[in-house]
Amino acid sequence: MAQNFDLVVIGAGPGGYIAAIRAAQLGMRVACVEKWRNPAGEPALGGTCLNVGCIPSKALLASSEEFENASQHLGDHGIAVSGVKLDLAKMMARKDSIVSKMTKGIEFLFRKNKITWLKGHGRFVATEDETIRIEVSDDDKDLQLVDAQQVIIATGSKARHLPGIPVDNKLVCDNEGALAMTEVPKRLGVIGAGVIGLELGSVWRRLGAEVTILEALPTLLGTADPSVQKEAARLFARQGLKIHLGAKIGEVDVGKKNVKLGWTDAKGAEQQLECDRLIVSVGRVPNTDGLNLDAIGLAADERGFVPVDEQCRTSVPRVWAIGDVVRGPMLAHKAEEEGVMVAELIAGQKPHIDYNTVPWVIYTSPEIAWVGKNEQQLKEEGRAFKTGQFPFAANGRALGINAPDGFVKVIADEQTDEVLGVHIVSAAASDMIAEAVMAMEFKASAEDIGRICHPHPSMSEAMREAALAASDKRALNM
Ligand code: FAD
Ligand code: NAD
Repeated sequence: MAQNFDLVVIGAGPGGYIAAIRAAQLGMRVACVEKWRNPAGEPALGGTCLNVGCIPSKALLASSEEFENASQHLGDHGIAVSGVKLDLAKMMARKDSIVSKMTKGIEFLFRKNKITWLKGHGRFVATEDETIRIEVSDDDKDLQLVDAQQVIIATGSKARHLPGIPVDNKLVCDNEGALAMTEVPKRLGVIGAGVIGLELGSVWRRLGAEVTILEALPTLLGTADPSVQKEAARLFARQGLKIHLGAKIGEVDVGKKNVKLGWTDAKGAEQQLECDRLIVSVGRVPNTDGLNLDAIGLAADERGFVPVDEQCRTSVPRVWAIGDVVRGPMLAHKAEEEGVMVAELIAGQKPHIDYNTVPWVIYTSPEIAWVGKNEQQLKEEGRAFKTGQFPFAANGRALGINAPDGFVKVIADEQTDEVLGVHIVSAAASDMIAEAVMAMEFKASAEDIGRICHPHPSMSEAMREAALAASDKRALNM
């Protein structure tokens, strides 16, 4: 006899667990199918984000930044330290304990909201009248059948691998191995200068590795504003991250202790890279295989994504899909927003997501964040705009905390002054971008931001100054 639920969510990453919680808040009887097991073999909630993505990477970024500050930058404050030593095992244990706290936190939230966690792999069996049948299989248990009035597919994504470069997560790693190395490699190779390549490349460089990143495209951070691309390239080079653009990967020879990689540079010259560890970070692919979509008359597109409309409806009635498994940026907060939207749509509410105001953050040092349009996009759209930029080198708080690199750039409509995009390179970019998102959600003008009282001294004053510069060319401190 199948169990019956108002809603079954497949996948408990940030898209799925948030959808489940919001639906339960709205009075639905909810189950969530999740198959993840942590390295100890225990079932775990939280998906990629909590287990092998956002949370562990940010823990290691913070720890490695502390290490670099202690060993290289405390002298700037007049603090002499010696004998700074790395205890990598302890650093990893700290990261693991944060992951464990966060995933256990989701278990608590499931209990609090009376959400049934169906442990195992979910796949569609059939759709009949008003119900959709799903089977849940777990090695340790008998097959379970569940019937749902509504289903949300939130199965997320996995690392894309390259043909001829087998990932063993020891010598050749994707995100999972790159977050769990047991020693600092002397020479680290990275394929792909995207978000993971830059973040995890930064972690291991700060801990002492010589890092070489090979990127296929001719531009670094192709989706960022050109001014951000330029500043990022300058700062990464100063830190010692070697990034080769326009690189074409050739033969890869994985030995017992190291990897030899042939590649062609942007000028067509043959090159060799020998490294002790290699990270492959060339994007992610959606998890749709194994869902048996055929059984309900649904098909993934040619890249494996579940096709959905603006409101995450699939072509099958009462089946929805959210997060990394559908179009749009692969970001945890985008998945969460879609989870809330779909739960509220099922409950008959009228939620809305403005995809133009989904912020991007890259947690390098300094951080890079943006929201809305960049100059390149506006030029292509033929929209007249004006810009204002303010450097952190002229911000007292930034100097005080020894973070003078970067800037805030505000782009506003030439005629109406409406904020169209904000681009930040700064130690505080991940938090500062929230003000820009809020301003854009409320359709603020650059002058609106410029006329809001910002605390002094604070990094946020740079936002006000850039807005004033965009609005009326009247930055007060520049
Ligand atoms: P996922 O988090 O991938 O969760 C999907 C879940 O579904 C998984 O737990 C999986 O086990 C489960 N599942 C799949 N198929 C089935 C099935 N058939 N049955 C049962 N369960 C199934 N994003 C940010 O916004 N900020 C960051 O700082 C950030 N850092 C990242 C760092 C790294 C190293 C990586 C890899 C990613 C990072 N991301 C970040 C991206 C972010 O992790 C994803 O966008 C986010 O996790 C997507 O959420 P999701 O719920 O769609 O899918
Ligand atoms: P990505 O799409 O950010 O970058 C992949 C890079 O690899 C691109 O620059 C691409 O041109 C390059 N590339 C692809 N094939 C290549 C090849 N054969 N040789 C050399 N270079 C090649 O992907 P990612 O860094 O793997 O991250 C995956 C996803 O995870 C991203 O979409 C991102 O949204 C998400 N993520 C987000 C954060 C964050 O928000 N801070 C952090 C990490 C990951």
